[in-house]
Parts: sequence; C-alpha cells; structure tokens
Amino acid sequence: MEIALLGNPNTGKTSLFNHLTGSYEYVGNWSGVTVEKKVGQFKNKKDLLIDLPGIYTVSPLSKDEAVVSHFFLHDHADRLLNILDASQLKRNLHLTIQILEYGKPVVIGLNMMDVAKNRGIEVDVNKLSAYMGVPVVPIIARSGEGCDELAQTITSQQYSYSEKNLIYYGREIEEAVLKLENLLPHSITLSCRWLSLQFLEGNQSIKSYLLNFIEVDVLNNLVLELEEKLKDERNAKSIDQYIYNKRSEFIHKVLVGSIVNSNDQKVTFTDKVDRMVTNQFLGIPIFLLLL
Ligand code: GDP
Ligand code: MG
Repeated sequence: MEIALLGNPNTGKTSLFNHLTGSYEYVGNWSGVTVEKKVGQFKNKKDLLIDLPGIYTVSPLSKDEAVVSHFFLHDHADRLLNILDASQLKRNLHLTIQILEYGKPVVIGLNMMDVAKNRGIEVDVNKLSAYMGVPVVPIIARSGEGCDELAQTITSQQYSYSEKNLIYYGREIEEAVLKLENLLPHSITLSCRWLSLQFLEGNQSIKSYLLNFIEVDVLNNLVLELEEKLKDERNAKSIDQYIYNKRSEFIHKVLVGSIVNSNDQKVTFTDKVDRMVTNQFLGIPIFLLLL
C-alpha cells in the first residue's frame, strides 16, 4: 500500500516519518517543482510512506499546496495519514476536513500530546475519533511514543472506511454540489463531492481538471448563481468564506465535545456557555446546569 503523510507545517511530519520508516528511503523532487519528495518504507517492509509538503489548505496558493493538489488529482495513495498538532486543533482541523472529504481511508495521528498536556489541554481521543469518523492515535513524534500503534492502525488489513458527508453546507451549496456531481462522468474515480467543494471554494487546480468534463461557461455560471444566492439569502461575502465558516462551526462543535479539560480560562468559560446554550435548546433550564 501507498500511504500519504499530510498535515500543516511544523506538526511533526518529518519526526513521524523518521519513526515510521526504516532505512530505505527515496529522496527527490516532485515533478516540475523544487519541492522535496521523500518516500520511505514502513518497518513491516511492505507498505510505503510518502511525505507531502506541509500545507494549511488544499487550494494551491503556494508551491507546496500545488504539489498536494496535483497529488490528490493524479496520484492514487491507498490511505492517508493526517498528522495533527493536539495543541493547535482549531487551526489544524480545516485541512483534516478537506482530507476526509477526499473520501479515502484516513487515520489521524494526534501529535504533540506532551505539548497539549503541558498547556493543560486534554483531548478525549475517542470522542474526537467519533466526530471525525476515523481512527485517532495519540502520539509524541519527537520521542516515538505511540508511533508503533499508529503504524499498526494505518497498515492494518482490517481497516474499512465508509464515506459519509461530514458537514452539511446548507441548501445553496449542497444544491450546487449536486448539480456538479450530475455533470461529471461516472468514470471518475475521485470523490465528486470533494471535487465540487474544492472547485466551489476556488481551487484553481480542480477547476482546470473539471474543464476536461464541463464547459467553462457552465462552471462560471454555476459559481455566479451560487454567489448571488449566498449574498442575498445568507448575507455571505463569498463562497469560500461561507464554506470556511461552515467548517469553523463544525470544528467548534468538535472541540467543545472532545476537549475534556483546558486550563485556558477563556476557552473553558466560553465552552461552558456554549454547552449551556445547546442544553437550553434541548429544554434543560440553565439554572440546573449551574448547580
Ligand atoms: P514538520 O514541519 O511537520 O515536518 O515538523 P517536524 O518533524 O520538523 O517538527 C517540528 C518541530 O516540532 C521539531 O522541533 C520537532 O522536534 C518538534 N516535535 C515534533 N513532534 C513533537 C512532539 O510530539 N512533541 C514535542 N514537544 N515536539 C515535537
Ligand atoms: Mg518537515
């Protein structure tokens, strides 16, 4: 199997890569660009790990992001290993959502558990896993703690993955996604939902790819129509901002549900308020929660 390693910059990808792979390693450049490509063999001597550049989003604004977009479109990793910084989940999870929407089996390596702990952040790994719908393995890539378990989970033969829609983006976006999905040929093996969402949030690599199948006017009109609707009905500035906000809402829900304890007073307080508001919607009087 080919397994791709993905994450934000500075989350510990290189450290993890070194723990997971043995001596065999290929180092070169990604085709056409001076971005380093590293491929290593897992210690089981069967599976390969491909190191991808650190990125914040799949949309190619930088050279590194262009490499990843190209990889998503044209290479076919069997599984994806997404490494997260446990102390920076709010920022890191935006990429995770896009990786999950891609529709391939994913395992999350929850790194920097020591840093998170020192900052008083306690993550409920099982709850995080339940929210994201994929296995989450806590690790400390600097020392190697948890890396064997992570290797076992990602290379396990039993791993099965059922694609589900992680986020409901609202009627307007969902209608546009459906339209696009219906315009794409059945022969495409990539997730049409992922392609559609990436296109709608302005990923130019994906637009070029869709132009192989859909007329440019059709694509442009679809975007214009959606933009109008979101402006009129949702007061949204732009499609990509709207999608970003929907993802932020989802991430907020995930964090409130899976961060058990945080010494950061401000976070704790607002989280409690959020819980109270949610519970109030459920009909539980607020004073009971304050007891
Ligand atoms: P990359 O940019 O994603 O490849 O991240 P690196 O592997 O280069 O790690 C960035 C920095 O974080 C380095 O100084 C690592 O030693 C450090 N680091 C990586 N994993 C951990 C960890 O689990 N805990 C701590 N405390 N530091 C880590
Ligand atoms: Mg690195």
